Amino acid sequence: MNNILYKSTRGLEKDIEASKAILKGLAEDGGLFVPETIPSFDIPLDDMINMTYQELAYEIMKLYFTDFTEEELKDCINKAYDSKFDTSEIAPLVKKDNVYYLELFHGSTIAFKDMALSILPHLMTTAAKKNNIENEIVILTATSGDTGKAALAGFADVKDTKIIVFYPKEGVSDIQERQMITQKGDNTFVIGIQGNFDDAQNGVKDILNDINLRKIMRDTGYQFSSANSINIGRLVPQIVYYVYAYAQLVKNGDIKIKDKINAVVPTGNFGNILAAYYAKQMGLPINRLICASNDNKVLFDFFKSGTYDKNRPFVLTSSPSMDILISSNLERLIYLLTDESSEKTKELMESLSKAGAYSIDPKMKEKVTDFYGQYSTEEETAHTIKKVFDTTDYLIDPHTAVGVSVYHKYVKETSDETKTVVASTASPYKFTRSVMLSLDEAYNEKTDFELIDIMHEKSNVAIPQAIEDIRHAEVLHKRVCDYTEMKDVVKDILKLV
Ligand SMILES: *Cc1c(COP(=O)(O)O)cnc(C)c1O
Repeated sequence: MNNILYKSTRGLEKDIEASKAILKGLAEDGGLFVPETIPSFDIPLDDMINMTYQELAYEIMKLYFTDFTEEELKDCINKAYDSKFDTSEIAPLVKKDNVYYLELFHGSTIAFKDMALSILPHLMTTAAKKNNIENEIVILTATSGDTGKAALAGFADVKDTKIIVFYPKEGVSDIQERQMITQKGDNTFVIGIQGNFDDAQNGVKDILNDINLRKIMRDTGYQFSSANSINIGRLVPQIVYYVYAYAQLVKNGDIKIKDKINAVVPTGNFGNILAAYYAKQMGLPINRLICASNDNKVLFDFFKSGTYDKNRPFVLTSSPSMDILISSNLERLIYLLTDESSEKTKELMESLSKAGAYSIDPKMKEKVTDFYGQYSTEEETAHTIKKVFDTTDYLIDPHTAVGVSVYHKYVKETSDETKTVVASTASPYKFTRSVMLSLDEAYNEKTDFELIDIMHEKSNVAIPQAIEDIRHAEVLHKRVCDYTEMKDVVKDILKLV
């Protein structure tokens, strides 16, 4: 099997083994780790049709994590994709009204982040063992709401790790916040920041890139890593479910093998859709990658004009996990579009951090035709939730609704009849208030937990354990800081001087 090594998109680091790239999270030059080449499938698609999720996960991950042994990798996979998921299918595909919903919210925190964050802690502890790491690993995470809880759940009480999560105090749903601040585990730390997700993500990158702090950490017996989707250990596990969805479509007779499909992905940090793009590069027959944004439509503008410009108001929406103006994973696509020029990538990213904007040249823009960008306004999103429920009795969350709304615009514009999978990224129970208000504004009178019970009656979908768990849970994390104080808070938690 080909040995795959990783390099930074900004050129400083290369020939890095997968386990080391996972441990580091972010490259030392501020770039993101990418495989030297994106591997192709090494077995025919036909052979994947009847595989279980776990078997398929192994077939994909072994192509990327080549310095893990078969035993190590299978062990990580089996520990991750087990009864924590409420269905043995792990990622079921549900057809409603000509749309195939790939339900990615059956894990323990009921959002798609579980798909990768249930395996990342195992990959990381295995990688630490392989590399004889004696330091305690400190996971730093910025969250727009869902990564935080999924990472906390994954790393809670994992030996020789600590996890510190920063979330925008005013920028997440009540249920998302409750899930995080009731997190148990002596090694967990949750801090609300005065600032938005971009501030949190920049703060984390800033801490990870602080050379002085890195040295102090080493001397104290710590090292940082990241659970954000900049970690290659999150990106790769996300490729699996696109292949799995394709296999389900073939198995159910909805498509013939080699037929193309479209994938619609509600997008924030560009991690989920990038995984779909990697799947396409590996050989999965994908026609268009439909990038769905909410009112923070920086990616829509980028695909349309070739200019990425974050200089605009940050809008708080009903799909908070997509309230992002700096989509970090786009750097990995930019790198490919520059024909893997780390100089050019670095130049564009420096322009982003200095001027808040960059433009790609026409030659690069020609290559983004795989992607179609569109957005959904708040009104359209709410209307979509209601329409889908009224016509199919199927209740979707606001993020998924952004995807469906965008998909309808795409069909109207292109008349493309290709079978289409929409990544359904969260359970409606995680965003109960906005979902119920989309159905009827009169629900505004009710409390969150009353709304949960009403949602249950109306939808007939069982209330997830994740929701029952927080009903009476005690609040354990009350710390709040300004986004400019994040580094000090980390030093305080780790008792660094
Ligand atoms: C994180 C998240 C997204 C956005 O995914 P990215 O990989 O950041 O683009 C969409 N929906 C939900 C529910 C999420 O938690």
